[in-house]
Amino acid sequence: MSDVPEASESQEVEHSIPEPEEQSDESSDDREASGDTEMDFLRNLFSKTLGISGEKVLDELTLEGVASYMRSGACKHIICMVGAGISTSAGIPDFRSPETGLYANLQKYNLPYPEAIFQIDYFKKHPEPFFALARELYPGQFKPTVCHYFIKLLKDKGFLKRCYTQNIDTLERVAGLESEDLIEAHGTFHTSHCVSFMCRKEYSMDWMKVKIQSDDIPKCEKCNSLVKPDIVFFGENLPKRFFTSTATDFPSCDLLIIMGTSLQVQPFAAMVGRVSKSCPRLLINLEKAGGADPLLGMLGLGGGMDFDSEKAYRDVVHISTCDDGCLALADLLGWRVELEELVKREHEKIDSKGGEENANQSTVPTVKAESVKAESVKAESVKAESVKAESVKPKAE
Ligand SMILES: [Zn+2]
Repeated sequence: MSDVPEASESQEVEHSIPEPEEQSDESSDDREASGDTEMDFLRNLFSKTLGISGEKVLDELTLEGVASYMRSGACKHIICMVGAGISTSAGIPDFRSPETGLYANLQKYNLPYPEAIFQIDYFKKHPEPFFALARELYPGQFKPTVCHYFIKLLKDKGFLKRCYTQNIDTLERVAGLESEDLIEAHGTFHTSHCVSFMCRKEYSMDWMKVKIQSDDIPKCEKCNSLVKPDIVFFGENLPKRFFTSTATDFPSCDLLIIMGTSLQVQPFAAMVGRVSKSCPRLLINLEKAGGADPLLGMLGLGGGMDFDSEKAYRDVVHISTCDDGCLALADLLGWRVELEELVKREHEKIDSKGGEENANQSTVPTVKAESVKAESVKAESVKAESVKAESVKPKAE
């Protein structure tokens, strides 16, 4: 598979395979990102000095302006860039939020430092904390949000060029987006691989689900090495498809919709600068993001998004939850009823499927002694709906 992130240790032996230049060594992501930042800096410097600017496409820098552009027929290719904020209403905690964030809940695992749980070298020595966390967060216990279904509606109506997600919860797939619609920039639980570079045997989501729910540490059936979901750990490269698609998708984008991300993590942060100068950019988020670097801003050279300076001409911010923002936009597009019915129908489908699965279990699920402790700690830290899902989860003996 071409879109599988590869362990960093494999890099030396990979030089014979032609790859995008961004992928040629370990520091590729950094270089890609810093390259972008430099380019943005230069672009901004030139546009500032020479007065180069894009065409003004929107009538007004509001959600109404975006909606009327979408209805005009001139807006054909929409790219969505989404982050943790689109999944919080599904009950999935935001990694970086200090209150509800995952890192705050990791004390029980005795990690040397919180990020270690997602570090590939640490994982290879101590996989237990990651799999304990995975058990809490396992995809399938959560339902996609209004925002996820809004993106599905964009696809159904022929607008969606691609959805770039930082999330690993697979809710985009659950909502009906397919592999070709999606770039899972931080990888996915959808597939797993043996971590041994000599083996790399692929495992399905169902296989991994059974392992994770059974308290077993997943081991390769061929070589007995660890098996890891294909989410991108620190110390690993982003999926190759991320770089190839970014290069082709962004120049032809007619509208960039950014939702639920504070655009603080590279390479996502720099990507907003990859659309054409005339491409409108809509941010739906609880706070403004993607603005100029404060230091560069002080020098009058700021890059990034510009919502309200006198030079603002294409960037729109809608401060709200992602669900509310999508409902408001759907309303302006005349899609609101359709969106609400889609959400209702799909959620009912998921609920009834969950009900069947539970009904099919002939015995009351038993919980292993060692996991009782983890379960009770979990109950304090995870939202009510996920605790409910946990309590009916089958435990393999
Ligand atoms: Zn193996």
